[in-house]
Amino acid sequence: MSLSARLKQIILDDGPMPLSTWMTLCLHDPAEGYYATQPGLGRDFRTAPETSQVFGELLGLWAVHEWHALRAPSPFTLTELGPGRGTLMRDILRATRGAEAFREAIDLRLVEASPVLRKAQSDLLKEAAPRHLASLADLPDQPAIILANEFLDCLPARHFVKTPEGWAERVIGLGEGGAFEFGLAVDRAPDGLSQIAESLVDIQPGLEGMVERLAARTAPFRALFIDYGPAETAPGDTLRAFREGAQVDPLAAPGTADLTVDVDFGRLSRLARAAGLEVAGPAPQGLFLGALGAKARMQRLIRANPDEGEAIHAGVAELVDPAKMGERFKAICLSSPGLPPPAGL
Ligand code: SAH
Repeated sequence: MSLSARLKQIILDDGPMPLSTWMTLCLHDPAEGYYATQPGLGRDFRTAPETSQVFGELLGLWAVHEWHALRAPSPFTLTELGPGRGTLMRDILRATRGAEAFREAIDLRLVEASPVLRKAQSDLLKEAAPRHLASLADLPDQPAIILANEFLDCLPARHFVKTPEGWAERVIGLGEGGAFEFGLAVDRAPDGLSQIAESLVDIQPGLEGMVERLAARTAPFRALFIDYGPAETAPGDTLRAFREGAQVDPLAAPGTADLTVDVDFGRLSRLARAAGLEVAGPAPQGLFLGALGAKARMQRLIRANPDEGEAIHAGVAELVDPAKMGERFKAICLSSPGLPPPAGL
């Protein structure tokens, strides 16, 4: 049965489904899920590491700096969550070639849900012999540096709307003719939503589990997340679907488009602090990369490749320019307690 037919059957059996269930099935269904079968990275959307190698190189230098802040443990776990095609990790490994002690201490673990992308990552990074994990919960409890770019935005979200009858959950049901359509379920909203939003709010339940898993670790760690979303206010109604660079209807053709929501950095910070973690940021990506030396790195790269100067400059500008990715994307670092503040935040 096709994914679309199965989604219809679930709705017929159980009633309209929350957006989070829709996202999980459309992204990760083993037979037809977007990431599981046909991830269109570079085609449907382009991420920072795919935009400029300077991004990964700066994060590589950041990782070496933070490894020293952790007192240079050997071995330590270098982990990326949702590494996509592996580009970021490839650039990190290239940029840190000279940091021998750091390189020798790396135990590389990748958390990736998609079998197609696991294969791509293993091929691209084979020299570093990465091992794949199903979840953050499976990380060995040794000191860790954890990185994630555009990972949080694909954690499924529930969406709530304030109506004259009170808060309601936006759900997906079947309209006339059996087409998928949004509806509202008044009885499904948790209490306390008015404290975080006025009329609309997206909540990613997965942020809670992730923070719990980090807080449960006994060995010291740094976890850097880069993603888009507002710095303080809760995002509302931010579900978007992308196919071939264009925004498309998230309910049309399930499994064929990337689905994302804005990340609630305020909520992530509150959850992390409540769990006893230290939080640095969120800071705009442009400022963060600038503080790590984006300009100097770019100039060095242009000097080494003068023919590609314009393209290199354009790529870095895309990452740091506030009108492009520089402001909308944020970096936030969650750390185990007792470490000095991380570089750049
Ligand atoms: N970090 C990459 C790719 C971003 S796309 C880049 O910046 O280019 C999101 C990535 O997260 C993909 O690799 C996707 O398969 C993975 N992913 C999404 N949800 C996941 C989950 N719940 N568990 C593990 N990996 C997940």
